[in-house]
Amino acid sequence: LPADIFPGRRNSAGIDLADPLVVEPLLERLHVLDARRWHAEPTLRSPEQGEVAPITQPQDLTHEVGTRRDALPEEIDVAITRAVAIQPGWDALGGEKRALLLEAAADMFEAHTDEILSLCQREAGKALMDAVLELREAVDFLRYYANEARRLFAAPMPLPGPTGEENRLSLHGRGVFATISPWNFPLAIFIGPAAAALAAGNAVVAKPAEQTPLIAALAVKLCHEAGIPQDVFQLLPGAGEVGQLITSDPRIAGVAFTGSTQTAHAINRSLAARDGPIATLIAETGGQNAMIVDSSALPEQVARDVVNSAFQSAGQRCSALRVLYLQEDVADEMLEMIKGAFEALVIGDPEDLATDVGPVIDPDAKAALERHVARRKKHGRKVWRRKLPRGTAAGCFVAPTIIEMDSILDLRRENFGPILHVVRYKASELERVIEDINATGYGLTLGLHSRIEATRRFVEARARVGNFYVNRNQIGAVVESQPFGGEGLSGTGPKAGGPHYVARFATERVVCIDT
Ligand code: GLU
Repeated sequence: LPADIFPGRRNSAGIDLADPLVVEPLLERLHVLDARRWHAEPTLRSPEQGEVAPITQPQDLTHEVGTRRDALPEEIDVAITRAVAIQPGWDALGGEKRALLLEAAADMFEAHTDEILSLCQREAGKALMDAVLELREAVDFLRYYANEARRLFAAPMPLPGPTGEENRLSLHGRGVFATISPWNFPLAIFIGPAAAALAAGNAVVAKPAEQTPLIAALAVKLCHEAGIPQDVFQLLPGAGEVGQLITSDPRIAGVAFTGSTQTAHAINRSLAARDGPIATLIAETGGQNAMIVDSSALPEQVARDVVNSAFQSAGQRCSALRVLYLQEDVADEMLEMIKGAFEALVIGDPEDLATDVGPVIDPDAKAALERHVARRKKHGRKVWRRKLPRGTAAGCFVAPTIIEMDSILDLRRENFGPILHVVRYKASELERVIEDINATGYGLTLGLHSRIEATRRFVEARARVGNFYVNRNQIGAVVESQPFGGEGLSGTGPKAGGPHYVARFATERVVCIDT
């Protein structure tokens, strides 16, 4: 069925942060929520209590936001047992009823906008605009996948029967899905894969990133309040060991993972090593994303889109621009413009409305990024860095940085933060530039700024990437309009927020009746 046979779904309008009548009361309400302490623990608790660990703010490590209590091995076992028991009933409920529950969850999220924005800022260090976009994406995922449940699970698909028999194909939940999600979209990418798995008739055990379990705990609680049964959607907070215990359990039918390529490989190995059903792995991983700018591009537009793609969310998006290729003849002029926009970035506390670039997630992330910059400096690379403003010393701030380099292939790993690399190329080298980008093995986002149609066609035909953006920024894929995800080292697909996503969480059955 075409996706538009269920009209009426619209992406969320978000919040107009330019309107003082909206923003001022919002800031006041968020200020009141600063005092709130949160807690995350497994949905079904065993009487034995494990250790409680503090969650601190990335922008100020001396401030606690709440506490996390990790799932114990016996709790993981009970969670999966209960999920296995309830899943057939959830599957039998049908697409329409599951859709209504997911839509009720989206309404609950919107009704708790303040708490969600507050947690995005305080637990994940997100600037207010990023927090607003995160909430929008989360509710868009819920409503889009709800519609997908209606579309895909409404009725079996009749198939041709040349010999006179009746053939039909239907979709069903695979069983219990585990979702393992990242801290960089602690709400949207926590709820997106879970919502898709639920839409397809699976029960879900969800392990959020160890850095951001509080917003995940709130999301699960709101889903339960919306009517999704507890045993159908359970939270299992913890670090990597909890993820490992979950994925090595032979009762898990599939895993939806977003995070590093390395961890995706580890999960794949763990799934391959266990008995039980051959599990589905849906992995959305990292990137080494480039943008190519030729001499026909408009410098002002380039400057805006480069700075936005590289530094919004402090560069902590897997879509973010890492390596900018500037055509040599215009490189100095473009770089001047880009540096102008770069110098104008406001670095600071995510709770200040003016902030463009907040902190990175934790001290380990900061240390790794600083090591990278130091190594490049040691190798004699040209480096431009912003100065960190006063008042940032207690947090995990990394000064936005631009580094000149020779090739994307000089980078061995993804640098997940506010660091942009710049490479100059000659017009005659375009083909090699694309070969080098492909040779990284990643294939997530690619940007192109060019007014030349033949160049656009050439790059589009050659580049092996999931999301190709022309004459705009390369972050912020919109649910349904730009389904998101990569290939190769960047992930397995299907694309989040796209028409093939929910079906991958389901299994297909065919009935053939001879008449
Ligand atoms: N979908 C996000 C974007 O287009 C990126 C997701 C991620 O960082 O994992 O910017």
